[in-house]
Amino acid sequence: MCGYVGTGHCPVPTDTIKMITNSAEETMLAGEKLAKKLKPGDVVALSGDLGSGKTTFTKGIGKGLGVKEPRRINSPTFVLIREYDGRIPLYHLDLYRLDNIMEIENLAIEEYIYSDRVTVIEWAEKIKCILPEKRVTVKFKIKDGDKREVLIEDLRH
Ligand code: ADP
Ligand code: MG
Repeated sequence: MCGYVGTGHCPVPTDTIKMITNSAEETMLAGEKLAKKLKPGDVVALSGDLGSGKTTFTKGIGKGLGVKEPRRINSPTFVLIREYDGRIPLYHLDLYRLDNIMEIENLAIEEYIYSDRVTVIEWAEKIKCILPEKRVTVKFKIKDGDKREVLIEDLRH
């Protein structure tokens, strides 16, 4: 659903993929596949509960972008932003600890979002108001056992 109400046709084609992954490996693979479609400047906004697979998915994106040793991509406790070299370099933002809008301003997050790299943001819903409309959103839900629902919406068009 694109939400467009008007002349009867939808001018904003939106690719939506919903899948269930059965393991961390499968979630990584989904990230790797998405990475093949990413270009410099793209923003990937991840949301979902703790342990739902955001960092795992980011490792897959890193692998797909040609980051060396993508498994070392993790969610550090005190650093909100990490950079990784790759075929396309990657900014990885984890905003879990971001508590207020002042901190966002201090971080100058726009510099990361409007860059020539791929920017992947965990807990992106915390800064939804400053995210570009043209982005890829990925929403994770924890299901039974090791299953995760992964909903990918490509809003870049
Ligand atoms: P988040 O960044 O959302 O907090 P992580 O990716 O760090 O989540 O952690 C997900 C945890 O769940 C990891 O320990 C991973 O091994 C485990 N896991 C089990 N099944 C899956 C799955 N299908 N997809 C992703 N992670 C899974
Ligand atoms: Mg994480």
